[in-house]
Amino acid sequence: MKCIVDKLRIQQRLAPEEYRTLLTMRDPQDVDYLMTQAREVAQQQFGRGIYLRGLIELTNVCRNDCLYCGIRRSNGHVLRYTLTREQVLACCEQGYEIGFRTFVLQGGEWGEERSTWIADLVSDIRTRWPDCAITLSLGEHPRETYSLWKEAGADRYLLRHETHNERLYSLLHPEGLTIRHRLQCLDWLKKLGYQVGTGIMVGSPFQSLKSIVEDIQYLVDFRPHMIGIGPFIPQHDTPFARFPAGSVAMTARLYAVLRLAMPSALIPSTTAMASLSPDGRLRGILAGANVVMPNLSPEDNRKQYALYDNKAALGAESAQGVKGLADELATIGYHIDWSRGDHPNKKQAE
Ligand code: SAH
Repeated sequence: MKCIVDKLRIQQRLAPEEYRTLLTMRDPQDVDYLMTQAREVAQQQFGRGIYLRGLIELTNVCRNDCLYCGIRRSNGHVLRYTLTREQVLACCEQGYEIGFRTFVLQGGEWGEERSTWIADLVSDIRTRWPDCAITLSLGEHPRETYSLWKEAGADRYLLRHETHNERLYSLLHPEGLTIRHRLQCLDWLKKLGYQVGTGIMVGSPFQSLKSIVEDIQYLVDFRPHMIGIGPFIPQHDTPFARFPAGSVAMTARLYAVLRLAMPSALIPSTTAMASLSPDGRLRGILAGANVVMPNLSPEDNRKQYALYDNKAALGAESAQGVKGLADELATIGYHIDWSRGDHPNKKQAE
């Protein structure tokens, strides 16, 4: 087993069966070796600093109907909201005071008629906080819209591919949404010069190990700047309410494999990790993750952005709780790195 881990560290790529071996190996010593190697690589790149991103959940209004997601269009139990421009700017202001230098605007997917409103908002943030990175995570849009937002001042875009397997993609999404179009969007974003983040949910209904291996291969080929991966967690008002949650251990193992394959990638230990397990966030970092995204949304709206049940948005998962987060990181010898935390190759189209 160790030789496969060593091979991945050196060659940064493996054959499908070898990825499968790393994802299924059971000997705790082997797993520990994988994690130690991944941590070593992360520390070579980033030291023991963890970058922060302030997550602003702009809206839970969504035109899509993804079967796993709590804010899907057909969920009638959601109290819909959209933050006002003033609310978003107040979140940024509060975040900036605390020390955040990246703001992530995430939300449901809107029609193109509101794209200029978003562009104006991005441009306001860009003008007021020129030293901050602006990340958008607002779903699929035409190339022109992504371009408009880039021109307005956005630097990064997060769009998980969710799964690279066409059949599984169609089981998780309503008719009309395709992996082909999702990947097209990711290509546009990269060509437009965004730092691009993509990734998957782990343990979603119908997912197989084979499809996870396909996802690793896609990620290794696409070379995103950021890799967002979290366990699936059921939401009680969705068609997937009765499916079991994904595993923190498998997600951590994927962080480790991807860290070895892509040493300089930005890999968050995601909110879903922290939501499933009290030590989920730290387990992600111990597997080579180097980013945490605390919640900066107005507190009243947080419970309405319920992508899944029991989503963590308080304590160390909230912007106001960074002191607690710093303490938590200190227990494993890590600290907050307050810089913008760009990808080292942001200028270079990879
Ligand atoms: N509308 C945007 C943002 C989606 S929310 C977009 O389409 O990209 C961000 C991520 O949350 C999604 O990409 C998905 O991977 C994750 N997510 C949604 N529902 C989830 C659930 N039930 N469990 C775990 N993660 C979920």
